[in-house]
Amino acid sequence: MGQLQDLGEFGFIQRIQNRFPQQFKDGVLGMGDDCAIIPVSADRCTLVTTDMLIQNVHFLLDAISPDDLGYKSLAVSISDISAMGGHPTYAFVSIGIPQHLPISWLDSFYDGFFKLCQAEGILLLGGDTTSSQHDLVVNVCLLGEAVPSELKLRSFAKPKDLVCVTGTLGDSGAGLRVLLESLPKTQDADVLVARHHHPRLYTQEAKWLAKSPYVHAMMDVSDGIDSDIRHILHASKVGARIQVEQLPLSKELLRYGKENDFDLHELALTGGEDYCLLFTLDSQAFQDIAKAYHQAFSTPFFVIGEITEKADLEYKNHDQEIQFGRKGYDHFRSGI
Ligand code: ADP
Ligand code: MG
Repeated sequence: MGQLQDLGEFGFIQRIQNRFPQQFKDGVLGMGDDCAIIPVSADRCTLVTTDMLIQNVHFLLDAISPDDLGYKSLAVSISDISAMGGHPTYAFVSIGIPQHLPISWLDSFYDGFFKLCQAEGILLLGGDTTSSQHDLVVNVCLLGEAVPSELKLRSFAKPKDLVCVTGTLGDSGAGLRVLLESLPKTQDADVLVARHHHPRLYTQEAKWLAKSPYVHAMMDVSDGIDSDIRHILHASKVGARIQVEQLPLSKELLRYGKENDFDLHELALTGGEDYCLLFTLDSQAFQDIAKAYHQAFSTPFFVIGEITEKADLEYKNHDQEIQFGRKGYDHFRSGI
């Protein structure tokens, strides 16, 4: 029997899936997308997602404020509900607490969590509390609702679709590098670290995109485009060509990356935790959708490539084909 490292995170998830040859009734979706889907009625379904955050794997306790950790623990799950085309409703939060953590720290954690609940109209319905010997563990289970015809699955991409993202890429990954490598603490570094600790959510944009039949597949960027888009390609049995010169980069990342010798394309593709939306769009509808989106949100979305029929992932810099040595985040193959 091999090691987890050989199987990788997604190989392991596939293995679990294979061990549960379950029959689902119509409309139920299990493992493999941002959320599970449970049908309720002809025009309603429930979405469920659960995400675990572990000290020293997902966050450094000394670097993130408790308020931000409370926010981020919920934000990553909201992002999954949004990416399916739904809106969040009810939350459960479970927490394994090391003895030394002050109550004031936990109060601030729940303040951050509660503020986001209020902003998004989410009700906290329960959870679980345990002690933990060393590290803090947080698990959030979030429920949501969607209209079945507005669901955006990873399996909906079609050849010739444009591959698009709603926000800049690599900021969060750069923020993590600032922390891990103790890089210079400039104003730009502060912005990048803030994007890592307090990711912007695209809930309104997701709702808007979900209503368009021209938007096909959608997911959120949690592990990095290089890893995330492979899920869309696998589920839709298609390929993609990504143009790295079109990857949207923030002015902070451009400046800071230059000063600190970052490989910006690699960071944008593999950094992860940007939590913007990655979607595929019928190319015929591009002009109209881009114009209406800009009118609605006063910002554009960004086209970064195209879905292809041949089932592989290709990177180009203008006309030149390029190779990437590193993939997106995998829990058993990457380190923090
Ligand atoms: P995301 O990054 O969007 O939160 P993940 O990559 O964590 O999604 O998970 C992908 C899919 O695999 C989801 O459908 C999730 O529910 C499922 N999954 C992940 N880990 C497990 C596990 N240990 N057991 C069962 N299902 C799992
Ligand atoms: Mg997701």
